[in-house]
Amino acid sequence: MRVLGNALSILGREAVRIVLPAICVGCRNELPWSDRTTSCCARCWQTLPRINGTKCASCALPIPDGERCIRCLDDPLPLDWCEAWGHYRGPLERVLHALKFERHDFYDEPLALLLDSVLPDRDFDLVLPVPMGRVKERRRGYNQAELLARALAERLGIECHPPLLVKRAEREAQSKLRRAARTANVRGVFAASPRVKGRKVLLVDDICTTGATLRACATALRREGAARVCAVAVARA
Ligand SMILES: [Zn+2]
Ligand SMILES: [Zn+2]
Repeated sequence: MRVLGNALSILGREAVRIVLPAICVGCRNELPWSDRTTSCCARCWQTLPRINGTKCASCALPIPDGERCIRCLDDPLPLDWCEAWGHYRGPLERVLHALKFERHDFYDEPLALLLDSVLPDRDFDLVLPVPMGRVKERRRGYNQAELLARALAERLGIECHPPLLVKRAEREAQSKLRRAARTANVRGVFAASPRVKGRKVLLVDDICTTGATLRACATALRREGAARVCAVAVARA
């Protein structure tokens, strides 16, 4: 089955080359044939806005200097570390939008490569995506964070088992709320399985906006006795 699955996935990726929109999501120019394994041309991919400077150790916010951002000096996220690859803008914003809303799932491996490149260490035995509410996931058909988590876990040779962290209730979409309301909105919404006890967990998300979701996920994992919780996102807003 595994061999067949792989063969189908290679065929799928070849078919995708043919059916893919021939326009780059970054520059809107026609995609060269050789770049049609994704929907972003090689030139735009090279210009994805990587965070090169200092980042807050607690929430990965780009900061001019120091260890933590002002917010995290008072109230750091309950994470051992938090990393993000790029700024949520320009071609990276458009690539992530295509992954999330236009089913461009072929970005899973290229983006997992970026995630891998910012990991300070690989001391984990479990990779978990930030979960999506069940209703929303059924409507969309997939959770983009799970695609990334699975691809990263495969690269690292670590187990990925999304059901160990679930989102219980659908509340307001975080994107519709102001910062202060976001923390309250997700408090108690995530539930971890007792099976995370003693595990070293790497949380994966596509975009980190305020850190409120990561805080709520990490709190749920710690409550069930996770030994270590770190987080990595493709982009930091
Ligand atoms: Zn382009
Ligand atoms: Zn911070």
